[in-house]
Amino acid sequence: MQVRWNFKLLPNQTQEATLEDWLVTLRKHRNYALRERTIGFETNNKDSDSAIIYAYGSYCDLDSRIEFGSGCPLTCPVLKHGVIPQDLELATKETKVKDKDTKKVVETVVKWDSASGIQMKVTTQLRSSILHFSIINSAVLQTNIARLDTAFSNFYKRRIGYPNFIRRLDSFEYKPGHVQLRHIRKNYATAYLPGIGDVKFLRSRDLTLIQDLRTCTITRKGGNWYISMLVNIADVLPAIKSLEECKSVVGIDVGINKLIALSDGSFQENKRISTNKRTARRMAMRQRAISRKLKGSKNKIKAVKKLAKQQHKLAQRRDGYDWQMAKVVVDTADVVARENLNIPNMVKRAKPSHDGKGGYKRNNAAQKTGLNKVILDASWGDIFDKIAWLALKAGKPVVEVPAKYTSQECPKCGHIDKKNRKGEKFLCVVCHHVDHADTKASRLIGRKVGLVFLKNKLTLPADCGKVTPSSYQSIVVETGNHAFGNHRHVRETPTVGYLGDTAEPLKESRRL
Ligand SMILES: [Zn+2]
Repeated sequence: MQVRWNFKLLPNQTQEATLEDWLVTLRKHRNYALRERTIGFETNNKDSDSAIIYAYGSYCDLDSRIEFGSGCPLTCPVLKHGVIPQDLELATKETKVKDKDTKKVVETVVKWDSASGIQMKVTTQLRSSILHFSIINSAVLQTNIARLDTAFSNFYKRRIGYPNFIRRLDSFEYKPGHVQLRHIRKNYATAYLPGIGDVKFLRSRDLTLIQDLRTCTITRKGGNWYISMLVNIADVLPAIKSLEECKSVVGIDVGINKLIALSDGSFQENKRISTNKRTARRMAMRQRAISRKLKGSKNKIKAVKKLAKQQHKLAQRRDGYDWQMAKVVVDTADVVARENLNIPNMVKRAKPSHDGKGGYKRNNAAQKTGLNKVILDASWGDIFDKIAWLALKAGKPVVEVPAKYTSQECPKCGHIDKKNRKGEKFLCVVCHHVDHADTKASRLIGRKVGLVFLKNKLTLPADCGKVTPSSYQSIVVETGNHAFGNHRHVRETPTVGYLGDTAEPLKESRRL
């Protein structure tokens, strides 16, 4: 099984300085390679009817992102002004064509190497002529160019835009077979990084399981250094059970008030790692501190580092919490059922609303931005990924069900209405069924799989003792964005109201 393991590196001062140096040089190297390709493209990509006729004609169209043949200087030979430079001999590859009968070489075909092939070969020259490059491992320089290739191929596949010149590079990569693990002790081990030396790292996993060490990536994050190893380990993933073999299901509904509502009636709280009042205020202060510093000054760099460190801490805290929750969910039942959410669509900004006179009406853009921040902080997609991985390791299937109307549908009579919801409360406008909105949604999601829910001994009745039925009238009036659970209603004191036209107070037995 191939997995990616991350470890925290503990470089000493000299090693850290070298690592920092490398990142600067590698960034320049990448930008240089990108510029070389772009210039090659701009000076050669002319139409055939233009004044100057180039040997290779037009190569590709950046607007439609289509490559014609294989002659594009962005991904293929680097040519300057249509002239093949003599020193590019390095980059030629000869193929000999043999005659079938006589088996003699008839002609020699010169094939152009790819742009990365040429640039990788030039790295040898760079290393012998420039001091900064000479200290960097040649394989690292080559993977640096291979990464630029990935950027270009992603551009042509319409995944990202045209590769940019970067102002900051935070990682570099060793090819398989370059990094060696040494001195494996109880709490730490060392990794031999060619060009840098033996660097200590925290041994947070069992390294004896590693059968084969593949690519290793060194990353700088929030002032810390990490090594990410792609390893083949002895463990084998179990076969995933089919739904017929499974007995129980847990439905989960992700939200803002409660981060996860499980169909057994339990909840996982939303800690709001970076959008809680205290943290949000502190982060705003750090951001403000940066904007007050002079551009290009050392103080500005210091302030940026402080913010980055803080953000990294928050990201780690969120990561750890998400793993904990994913474990709880996967351990609950044989199958996990979750909504199929389109999160990128949910966090789109509010569209401007025109008033028909050339102006704009209020569209609550600030409110929507705030909500988007909270959604992104909840990291639903990350939780889903972690659940998927833990379920895969446990051999349990994860079922995605359509998310439509899970928050509005009544589980008893099936009536779908926006008015059924008021914040955390669910009260059907037709049959007056009362429930906790999130738990109800999670049960609707789980129900679609057609398996039984496991009972949780700690779970209270359906309303979990927290939902107090609200008055019928107030629910009719209620409008608003309920898709994410309207957090503004959390602190509203629930009122025991009256249902329908009857003036009788709600009896205990009807609270379910
Ligand atoms: Zn109903």
